[in-house]
Amino acid sequence: MTEKPLASTPANGCNGSSRHLRTGVEPAGGFRVARAGFDYLIVGAGFAGSVLAERLAAGSNKRVLLIDRRPHIGGNAYDHYDDHGILVHRYGPHIFHTNSAEVAAYLSRFTKWRPYEHRVRAFVDGRLLPIPINRTTINTLYGLDLSSEEEARAWFAARAEPVPRIRTSEDVVISQVGRELYEKFFRGYTRKQWGMDPSELDKAVTARVPTRTNTDDRYFTDSFQMMPAHGFTRMFENMLDHPNIKILLNADFREVANAVRYDRLIFTGPIDEFFDYRFGKLPYRSLRFEHSTLDQENLQPVAVVNYPSEAVPHTRITEYKHLTGQVHPKTSITHEYPSADGDPYYPVPRPENAELYRKYQALADATPNVVFVGRLATYRYYNMDQVVGQALSVYARLTGTKRSHAVGDGERAAPQAAGQARVAAPAAAE
Ligand code: FAD
Ligand code: UDP
Repeated sequence: MTEKPLASTPANGCNGSSRHLRTGVEPAGGFRVARAGFDYLIVGAGFAGSVLAERLAAGSNKRVLLIDRRPHIGGNAYDHYDDHGILVHRYGPHIFHTNSAEVAAYLSRFTKWRPYEHRVRAFVDGRLLPIPINRTTINTLYGLDLSSEEEARAWFAARAEPVPRIRTSEDVVISQVGRELYEKFFRGYTRKQWGMDPSELDKAVTARVPTRTNTDDRYFTDSFQMMPAHGFTRMFENMLDHPNIKILLNADFREVANAVRYDRLIFTGPIDEFFDYRFGKLPYRSLRFEHSTLDQENLQPVAVVNYPSEAVPHTRITEYKHLTGQVHPKTSITHEYPSADGDPYYPVPRPENAELYRKYQALADATPNVVFVGRLATYRYYNMDQVVGQALSVYARLTGTKRSHAVGDGERAAPQAAGQARVAAPAAAE
């Protein structure tokens, strides 16, 4: 366990600004850095922008200005110690998992890891049941005693509805488990989360959550499932701690674009916004996060409990101490309320949106010296590891290197934060 660093003093303050200043952050409006000129202006300090900043600076000796309109680095993966000293994720639960040894090895240069396998329960019919639906889910819900995968498979098959062509998020589920389980676990959650019926959403959305005939109750089955031992923000700080990288926070691209000199631009914000919504707005789904701290040690048995019922306005509650292993007499939680308005968090996968995106993509391809990377800029429902992989591929393309060489293992000794040693390979996580 790696409780020690989290349980004591917050190592990164709420905005992490003291460390940023050492790495060259300018206060908004302080454009002293501008006259030097940069090889790259990178818009957005989330995974896409930060990986590219690190690679271009450390791997290719480029001078990079990394900006973000938020007051912090890390994008949606940003975490910080709240007023009670509990490490929380400002934009909802972020759990790192990947099957890419390369992505895991790359990030391992900037953080130690804490082993963590994510487990989620769904509150259905007054009980907390495993989701993804597995044999335990149906045994508990229906008072069954199915003891083998064959029995479970037959039970699902007897309820599954034949769907000739699986197109939508409804098709995926009813073709596997039938309508009743679909309605209990998926229909309400999806309607709340996306503001539309699963029958209107691409199959890829609910296909993220498989159905199991065994009793594996992990949310993910990826070969690498770990949390950064000191949090995501600390990992980003280590990644960006390079003399070639200047960071400017509270700075929108529009404010900065004409005030700095740079040769090339990397944009990781919403692509439709970049082009002034020329073809109309791309739909993004938003969330409202309600953070609170309870005067009790624990609230729920696992990090995330989903609430599929439409009678409940939130979709899920996250309790962070399960993710971080932090020991604390209180516990901090977040309720998520989906919303049409607010920061763009999710591209909405449906055919008409993909078509609209393709128009922007064509425009992007015809725009010289600008590269679009990340979840918002390429309008893809990507997990963190996929964004890291995408950014590494873009770096390889920009520098004419092979993707396998792009991670640049061992090309520089990464800076050591106090009390932190680097692991060379994912397997060496503590
Ligand atoms: P972002 O993190 O969104 O970063 C883009 C940055 O660009 C933002 O900080 C934004 O402020 C900045 N920006 C945008 N426009 C401008 C502008 N004009 N000027 C200046 N700055 C600008 N993935 C997982 O792997 N596991 C999970 O458990 C997981 N959980 C998630 C839970 C939620 C609620 C959400 C919303 C996402 C989750 N993800 C998860 C996905 C993960 O957040 C993304 O894959 C990843 O953070 C995307 O990185 P990015 O750099 O593309 O985008
Ligand atoms: N989903 C659901 N019920 C659940 C969990 C997920 O209906 O209990 C559906 C819902 O449409 C959700 C999608 O599956 O948006 C993907 O779930 P995931 O947990 O991957 O969502 P994320 O963590 O990306 O918000």
